Amino acid sequence: MAVMDRHKGTRKLLYQRRVHRFEMKDKCPDCRGRGVTRPVIHEFFYEPASPCASCEGEGTYKAWKQRQRR
Ligand SMILES: [Zn+2]
Repeated sequence: MAVMDRHKGTRKLLYQRRVHRFEMKDKCPDCRGRGVTRPVIHEFFYEPASPCASCEGEGTYKAWKQRQRR
């Protein structure tokens, strides 16, 4: 399964590059430093933006990194 492995490796590399970019800016890669997740807008319900689970709403890279180690 060499093709699968290569595909997986590329995706991981892309994520690592994105994480590195946010590390430079000291922002959480998951919520892009906003501290909240995107609000869900649906035909029948509206879920407001909630604090980001990856950085606990802080929006900083440091907070995100601490959560990753657990
Ligand atoms: Zn976050």
